[in-house]
Amino acid sequence: MSETQVQRLLAKYDRAVPRYTSYPPANHFHEGVGAREYLDALAGIPGGEAVALYVHIPFCERRCIYCGCHVVPTRKKAAGEEYLERLEQEIALVRGAAREPLRAASVHLGGGTPTYLSPAQLERLLGACREAFLLESGAEVAVELDPRVTTAEHLDALARCGATRVSLGVQDTSEEVQQAIGRFQGRDLTVRFFELCRSKGFRSINVDLVYGLPLQTRERFLGTLRDVLALRPERLAVFGYAHVPWVRPNQKAIDPATLPTGPERVELCALAHEELTRGGYEHIGLDHFALPGDELALAREEGRLGRNFMGYTPFKGIKVVGFGVSAISDLGSGYFQVEKKLSDYYRALDRGEAPIERGLLLTEDDAVRRHVIQEVLCTLRLDTAEFEARFGEPFAERFAREIDGLRPLQADGLVRVTPRAIDVLPLGRLLLRNVAAVFDAYLQKAPPEAPTYSRAV
Ligand code: SF4
Repeated sequence: MSETQVQRLLAKYDRAVPRYTSYPPANHFHEGVGAREYLDALAGIPGGEAVALYVHIPFCERRCIYCGCHVVPTRKKAAGEEYLERLEQEIALVRGAAREPLRAASVHLGGGTPTYLSPAQLERLLGACREAFLLESGAEVAVELDPRVTTAEHLDALARCGATRVSLGVQDTSEEVQQAIGRFQGRDLTVRFFELCRSKGFRSINVDLVYGLPLQTRERFLGTLRDVLALRPERLAVFGYAHVPWVRPNQKAIDPATLPTGPERVELCALAHEELTRGGYEHIGLDHFALPGDELALAREEGRLGRNFMGYTPFKGIKVVGFGVSAISDLGSGYFQVEKKLSDYYRALDRGEAPIERGLLLTEDDAVRRHVIQEVLCTLRLDTAEFEARFGEPFAERFAREIDGLRPLQADGLVRVTPRAIDVLPLGRLLLRNVAAVFDAYLQKAPPEAPTYSRAV
């Protein structure tokens, strides 16, 4: 298919759909589920089962104009110490709630800016995780890094703690775009920082890029892709910028007239896919790309790929325990989100309570659909015989309406539907969220009236 035909197809399916880092999506969480349900779910995790840990560090020195993350802007360094003490309390509380000691297969520090904490504080935090959760040997320890504020001492501390993967925020290397998003990071700094990370021996380096940013043109983004390809990171994540000023008032500072138009966004998305695959990267799914030998690429080949709030993961079906403001735990039976306001988080921990603000317990239908959506997003195949063995009912009967809903996607060459399987075809990989959305019962019942989800492209 020609580049123009691909762009036409992307434009046709460019509508608001969930990112499916969870099913049901987080906008369906509610306050009827809280600390009690969370503690019960923790107690129900079988002893010895390995989980993934996520720790959110919300602080940034200042908020970038385009930022869509849960961030607390502050320059007070004391904030880090106060927060770290609460994280230690929360870790101890969760450790105490589990019936038997839990093992951890991975730890991910995200933000905000994890290196807002000092090198010594990072060592203390990872030490607390290691002590409470029996970190497996060879565990993945991943940390998100802002090259503008991360020092060589931070990297040394992370290397001492066994960090295996670092993820660098870059977004776009052109000065014009960086000024427009309020996040200036010269090319030289990116290259120097990348090489510094390499010299510390981390097993895998990821670079985050964003398309759809103000003043971004095809030429500027192509320059960005080529700059980054020259560095050869093991992984790349290329996210579409979601302009949602009604949710993130900081984005009001962006003049919508400077944003790429719909067709220009589609072109940028297609450009990233084309350049990265030509550069030897495998498209793992949605916004993730990896070199063939990388753990994510291997996990996809071996059917071990999963998806959760951290994106794609090589640990299919693993439960996630989240710590820190706004973090979300996925304990199999339900989702549980930590308080989003720092003051509420501190107050709950000071009372000795689990700081859970809201959540959702999965119904039988949620659990079945979650499995189907995970298969579509990760395995790119839904095997009907495997489904029937797992759930004890004919796939074609339970999902007759959805099979019908897939017909237009089949006609456009995104999927192939047979009695044996639903296969996502190469074109469908570019529009995985749309394929998954066919199985989303919440979208079928009541598509959201207010803008809720980002666009598919
Ligand atoms: S550094 Fe990252 S997390 Fe912090 S404000 Fe900027 S975009 Fe948001």
